[in-house]
Amino acid sequence: MNAVIATPGLDSLHAGFLARPLQLFIGGQWLPAQSGQTFAVLDPSTGRDIAQAAAGDAVDVDLAVRAARKAFHTGPWPSMSHAERGKLMLKLADAVERHADELALLESLDGGNPVRMTRHIDIAMAIDSLRYNAGWTTKLTGSTSLSSPQSRSFTYSLREPVGVVGAITPWNAPFLMAVNKISPALAAGCTVVLKPAELAPLSALRFGQLLEEIGLPPGVVNIVTGFGAAAGQALVDHPDVNKISFTGSTRVGKSILMGAAANMKRVTLELGGKSPVIIFPDADIEAATAATTQTIFFKTGQFCAAGTRLFAHRKVFERVVQGFADRARKLKVGPGVAADTEMGPIISQKQVDRVMSYIGAGRSQGAEIVTGGSRIERDGYFVEPTLLANVRPDMSVFQDEIFGPVLCAMSFSDTDELDRLAALANDTVYGLAANIWTRDLSMAHGLARRIQAGTITVNGGSREQPMPFGGYKQSGLGREGGREGVEAYTEIKTVSIGL
Ligand code: NAP
Ligand code: MG
Repeated sequence: MNAVIATPGLDSLHAGFLARPLQLFIGGQWLPAQSGQTFAVLDPSTGRDIAQAAAGDAVDVDLAVRAARKAFHTGPWPSMSHAERGKLMLKLADAVERHADELALLESLDGGNPVRMTRHIDIAMAIDSLRYNAGWTTKLTGSTSLSSPQSRSFTYSLREPVGVVGAITPWNAPFLMAVNKISPALAAGCTVVLKPAELAPLSALRFGQLLEEIGLPPGVVNIVTGFGAAAGQALVDHPDVNKISFTGSTRVGKSILMGAAANMKRVTLELGGKSPVIIFPDADIEAATAATTQTIFFKTGQFCAAGTRLFAHRKVFERVVQGFADRARKLKVGPGVAADTEMGPIISQKQVDRVMSYIGAGRSQGAEIVTGGSRIERDGYFVEPTLLANVRPDMSVFQDEIFGPVLCAMSFSDTDELDRLAALANDTVYGLAANIWTRDLSMAHGLARRIQAGTITVNGGSREQPMPFGGYKQSGLGREGGREGVEAYTEIKTVSIGL
């Protein structure tokens, strides 16, 4: 048993928000699941229950979709001007900002990610997303083409909201993923039914209270907690949902794509990754090692774009591996809500078993464990930050998304064989991100062109808000963020007038 952590704000969360059974937010009202079923919400840092939430199913999803449909066609939402909608979104961003500390704590308690990260990355980025997308309310346009003086038609295009959106989110960044879907959907004029992951639904429900507080019209955003196979599947199957926006695993993403075909729902999929980190001998090795440690252990490796396959040039391989191992050993591992935690727990026992079985498979296939490799014996679901070296492309640890604190390293020799290096980097079914470290511009640009990935960073660059995010290959379909992200919640209609 570990010492109880005294974190400011935790007691009031337990005595307030978490003390009552958490309900579904449908049509502006808080309701129990029609079946009366609930499920336990766990703190992965202790393995203990922290709340009970309503287990919504197809019946509740149907109520929520009806509420969203009604709000889409009638009431204040469709008659609001674009500017009014934008103002409401800015008000929402202010409300999230006012409650940022509390939301971050709730997020860390439920999902286990360190509170300094949830506060300064997840919640901060969600606020930015709301403000950024609020700007799009007044800027979405159709177009018209130049017509010749002889033309007998005047043709233009209209951009319209796609309709009712089903948003399905994962547990590793639950608040940010939910807001990244809701904010462009609202900017486009859609209404939403959100199905958060059952392993971390709390911050979405607190967000529901803020939606109520700022006066978002009833039914514009509905939140149905529950299991993927019941509530999530019901949203995918519902004939009156126009679009599914999903973030999660490639396996579930494929089943959603097939399910959505029934009524040809529009689909955006943000899926898994196995992103390469490529370090050339001329790079700033200190910076590269520090950043690589950060991206893999940020969220305990449970981060879709984490750099999980490390390719370091043989001249610097030993230095990189040792630098990485030293940093990994010094990381402060602990509960998400503790202010000094640098790496939190894994989300569940099931995920711990999965991560440990990959480490075991790597070891038996000949990978060398440079550091870590074991479970940490304490309450909750903790695994040591782990570095595997001598990894080969045919190993499962190289190919599969482990979604745990495991970095796989191998060396390369040629710096002039960009095609060969890119082929190695591209040798998985994924294509979400890639990180390149070199001072040689030709090398950086040459590889950036050759690597099949939605986001490529060089020397630690970070993607900024107006830029789209998403995957090549089996890392997804479509993009979130930027103009592409908001336009994905619209349909385009061409109108032609005979003159
Ligand atoms: P998951 O198992 O695919 O679940 C994601 C969501 O889908 C959850 O809300 C889940 O519900 C729901 N779901 C499960 N089965 C469903 C079904 N048949 N129909 C509809 N919904 C269903 O993924 P996860 O384990 O939560 O998250 C980890 C994965 O997400 C990783 O692969 C990671 O790479 C990916 N991810 C990608 C991005 C990105 O932007 N590309 C970002 C973050 C995470 P329940 O969990 O409640 O059952
Ligand atoms: Mg939880």
